[in-house]
Amino acid sequence: MDTKIYLSSPHMSDEGFELNYVHDAFEKNWIAPMGENVNKFEKELAAKVGVKSAAALSSGTAAIHLALKTAGVGAGDIVFCSSLTFCATANPIIYVNAIPVFVDSDFETWNMSPVALEKAFEKYTPKAVLVVHLYGFSVDMDKIVEICKKHNVVLIEDAAESLGTLYKGHYTGTIGDYGVFSFNGNKIITTSGGGMLVSNNEEKIAKVRYWATQARDPARHYQHSELGFNYRISNVLAGIGRGQLKVLNQRIKKKREIFKFYKSELGQLDGVEMMPVNEWNEPNYWLSCILLSGYVRPSDVMGALEAENIESRPIWKPMHMQPFFAGYDFVGDGVAEKIFENGVCLPSDTKMSHEDLDRIVKIIKKLW
Ligand SMILES: *Cc1c(COP(=O)(O)O)cnc(C)c1O
Repeated sequence: MDTKIYLSSPHMSDEGFELNYVHDAFEKNWIAPMGENVNKFEKELAAKVGVKSAAALSSGTAAIHLALKTAGVGAGDIVFCSSLTFCATANPIIYVNAIPVFVDSDFETWNMSPVALEKAFEKYTPKAVLVVHLYGFSVDMDKIVEICKKHNVVLIEDAAESLGTLYKGHYTGTIGDYGVFSFNGNKIITTSGGGMLVSNNEEKIAKVRYWATQARDPARHYQHSELGFNYRISNVLAGIGRGQLKVLNQRIKKKREIFKFYKSELGQLDGVEMMPVNEWNEPNYWLSCILLSGYVRPSDVMGALEAENIESRPIWKPMHMQPFFAGYDFVGDGVAEKIFENGVCLPSDTKMSHEDLDRIVKIIKKLW
């Protein structure tokens, strides 16, 4: 059996940047609780994406939780949420006892449809809109921002998959009121686990850091005026993040090459479409995804790859189709469902060689 090819696995720098920061933490015994890696990771990421303030947290999920909390979303509030996403986008809405209303995608972006969003506003008055930049491809933000401004509603960007993606020259995660990044193991850069909440509202981010460290009041004794969370990242993991940030552009370059290769090799096949790249979108190409409309089905592609020790995945199953969220409303026309049923995430690991990529497209082309 040939060596395994992964969908998207951790890829540390050749230079050992990450280990240097981790060594530094060991030498200074800043294993815990905090330390300069955490502060610098926040500053360096904020500078990279051009935002005033960032709070480094234990996961992207924790960042979404605290984004909702700081946006003032609470019990009984409605949150409009992209349906086509991973469950970690929607679960925090339940953590704060709010009510998700799921919004459909469009085929132009695979992301939240502005048309469906407008329709949702005809039916409900939400406290916040939570949009996802799926697989590293940007939402059409101008349209979504305009709708949110018109209705005076907070906009949160789940940019967990889209660190480094540009929308009209602005980094995703910095366009709405709050942005969320994830450094989970399969993301474009990873700390093995971690997340970041960013905003231009420095006061709000300072409050997020306070909540994330058990809401400890600035007093010598242990005093708490609010409910707290243990949501900070560790100084060791933040060191990995600082090293990974240095290779983010390299990772994006490789992901773009992978996408372009698939597009040139598979894009001409009957009934194959790549995930669309719009003129305003400069994706990080986290995952290369295809949509199938012919006789070859996603299960054929995934099965053929699996038989050759190669990992691929279905598209996220939309939230409105999940048993857990069955009781919540959905506004749309079945687009997310069609993308789920007909899409495949192809191996997008940045450690793949040209030979690996050749091997993959050969296997897929045999199905035609
Ligand atoms: C990975 C991911 C998250 C959650 O991030 P974690 O760091 O794993 O908690 C949230 N939303 C989306 C769309 C993701 O892909």
